[in-house]
Amino acid sequence: QILSQANPNSTLQLSLARTFSSATAPIRATLFPGDGIGPEIAESVKQVFRTAEVPIEWEEHYVGDQIDPRTQSFLTWESLESVRKNGVGLKGPMATPIGKGHRSLNLTLRKELNLYANVRPCYSLPGYKTRYDDVNLITIRENTEGEYSGLEHQVVRGVVESLKIITRQASLRVAEYAFHYAKTHGRERVSAIHKANIMQKTDGLFLKCCREVAEKYPEITYEEVVIDNCCMMLVKNPALFDVLVMPNLYGDIISDLCAGLIGGLGLTPSCNIGEGGIALAEAVHGSAPDIAGKNLANPTALLLSAVTMLRHLSLHDKADRIQNAILSTISEGKYRTADLGGSSTTTDFTKAICDHL
Ligand code: NAD
Repeated sequence: QILSQANPNSTLQLSLARTFSSATAPIRATLFPGDGIGPEIAESVKQVFRTAEVPIEWEEHYVGDQIDPRTQSFLTWESLESVRKNGVGLKGPMATPIGKGHRSLNLTLRKELNLYANVRPCYSLPGYKTRYDDVNLITIRENTEGEYSGLEHQVVRGVVESLKIITRQASLRVAEYAFHYAKTHGRERVSAIHKANIMQKTDGLFLKCCREVAEKYPEITYEEVVIDNCCMMLVKNPALFDVLVMPNLYGDIISDLCAGLIGGLGLTPSCNIGEGGIALAEAVHGSAPDIAGKNLANPTALLLSAVTMLRHLSLHDKADRIQNAILSTISEGKYRTADLGGSSTTTDFTKAICDHL
């Protein structure tokens, strides 16, 4: 089976999942198609789900055209309520203007829904050759604070300040998630990534919390790696890593580096885990404005994100079927999108996946 070849832990289920009834009634899930390539790749997910007869009913929400005072962003309160009510959702990329404008929609979602851990699996795809064929790691990113706290201001003319917030509560919570994840998914090692030699207070507290949690998991090997050294080690030999846990900004950067190891951002999924078992899956990549509207986007990352959502719902048979179809299509090589060196459009590639179901 191509699936087990790709990832020995592929039947992974994101822990802390809510219990969903497996009764015949369709499960409602929130869908944010998002910006840029978002609607194109969301359409691809809908088509694959329909073909695989996945019992999901999408509740689609779009970003509003004016600021909702209840969220202080273009995200409507109703869309957040939809995720809270359904407990699961899939999100396309959302664009954020650089250096000005409204509060990031992604930050709003993470904060309002308390999506505290972002889980980003990254593994070599069978049949798709890159420099390595043995990448199999999970980045777990603290998702609510750090450098992404949104606390920036001008002190005096020519001097600005951006606050990095690290709390004991959020650090313990994400560390606990990482170790629990490792234990329940047959992983052996957790590496805490940091820069505590320079950021002694903030990253120092993060590490202290990771150490505390590590003591509760003697069966998992624990190590600490400075972020710059981690980048070098990942590029030289990614097989050195298993589960990596880190503060927000480092997780954002390291997971793009990891995507580069296996073929690019078109391939890497993620899932945001919130309090109360909420799961909001999304691709690691952004809205890709350079290729938006051209039917060129690779929908794999969003499709594999949707697969993590299905696993969260314990729909493993559907998840396996879809994941297998995606991996087989890429492995065969006849239909690949341009980012993987092919010439297929998003729609042709999606059709090929459907034909493999
Ligand atoms: P990006 O991830 O959108 O694009 C980087 C490069 O990767 C581009 O060349 C793009 O064409 C390519 N790429 C990305 N996804 C692809 C796919 N599925 N198929 C083929 N090629 C793909 O990063 P960016 O250009 O820095 O950001 C664009 C916008 O997206 C910004 O507004 C940014 O804030 C936003 N963003 C959103 C999220 C999110 O919603 N979670 C994440 C990252 C960036």
